[in-house]
Amino acid sequence: MKYNIALLRGDGIGPEIVDSAVLVLEKIGKKFGHDFCFTPYLIGGCAIDKTGEPLPAETIDGCLASDSVLLGAVGGPKWDNLSGDIRPEKALLGIRAALGLFTNLRPAKLYSSLKEASPLREDIVKEGFDLMIVRELTGGIYFGERGRREGKYGAEAYDTEAYSRMEIERIGRVAFETAMKRKKRLVSIDKANVLETSRLWREIMHELSADYPEVEYSDMLVDNAAMQLVKNPCQFDVIVTSNMFGDILSDEASQITGSIGMLASASLGNTKRGLYEPIHGSAPDIAGQNKANPIATVLSAAMMLRYSFDLKEEADCIEKAVDAVLENGFRTADLIGTGSAEAVSCSEMTEKILEMI
Ligand code: NAD
Repeated sequence: MKYNIALLRGDGIGPEIVDSAVLVLEKIGKKFGHDFCFTPYLIGGCAIDKTGEPLPAETIDGCLASDSVLLGAVGGPKWDNLSGDIRPEKALLGIRAALGLFTNLRPAKLYSSLKEASPLREDIVKEGFDLMIVRELTGGIYFGERGRREGKYGAEAYDTEAYSRMEIERIGRVAFETAMKRKKRLVSIDKANVLETSRLWREIMHELSADYPEVEYSDMLVDNAAMQLVKNPCQFDVIVTSNMFGDILSDEASQITGSIGMLASASLGNTKRGLYEPIHGSAPDIAGQNKANPIATVLSAAMMLRYSFDLKEEADCIEKAVDAVLENGFRTADLIGTGSAEAVSCSEMTEKILEMI
């Protein structure tokens, strides 16, 4: 089968880490008999340099014509002083909107071989943990009516949280489907003791749970969830939550793994096409030095296989290869502290992963 993948390498370490993921996908293609075709497009600072804009129309058209999109990272000091509309980061919002992406999937996995990187106590993370946050991306308080007005005590500001049945149902379905592809456990996080939007959210999640009898479903209040993530992260498999709660909890979850260079993400919409990218930025401090950890991008490519192409065995193969390389003690500098003599380079780490596939 042939799959067309748009490559948005971007800036800083973007090109190095995307090229690592391409090598991994090519090896998977050979092993399992798939034809992955890659077409590069400009995004971010490099696009500004060549075309004057961070997200050229050609890039949007190319992504829309592809089966899926792999992104490195954008931005860097060279473009920091440009005005808001032509900043590299503007391209990220633009491409998500153009592709109609309303779901953000953020796995947070602590490998048992990397548990010393976690800021959590050893007895809490001795088994490692592996959870997935499904965050609603285009609704809620970040997109609601807002403004300023004169109130009884002077100036007031307000932001409004609104969620429709359609928005809750579609994110809920993604979450239940995601749970079906994992350990079949789902926790929906809300603030239903206070917020009306959360009460509607909870009602609809309960309705949906009837369609997924195999999924063990429960609700949790967001304040409790913030505590449970640091007290016992192993209890979670899939978490579904609103835009703002997801924004906060997904950063908390990534911090407790302690390894920014390891964390993948996916943004999905109504079609199988998704945008897959590491959660980290363009790391200008190490760009072009062959020091970047390519694992977050390699794991993003594995998510693409799993969620856009339904290639479960192939995705498992990449994830197991990464596991094995870490078990064998190979570490890029970010995983053992910069300057360590034992660190492997970005290309060496890629080579080790390829050997394990
Ligand atoms: P960053 O994630 O780029 O870097 C933070 C620290 O983590 C740096 O020390 C960096 O060297 C290290 N790091 C990040 N990824 C790594 C990897 N794969 N391997 C090894 N070390 C890694 O965040 P920042 O420094 O705040 O931002 C740098 C630039 O990236 C800025 O221009 C910012 O706007 C942009 N940014 C882009 C995205 C994106 O494209 N999605 C996300 C965040 C930041």
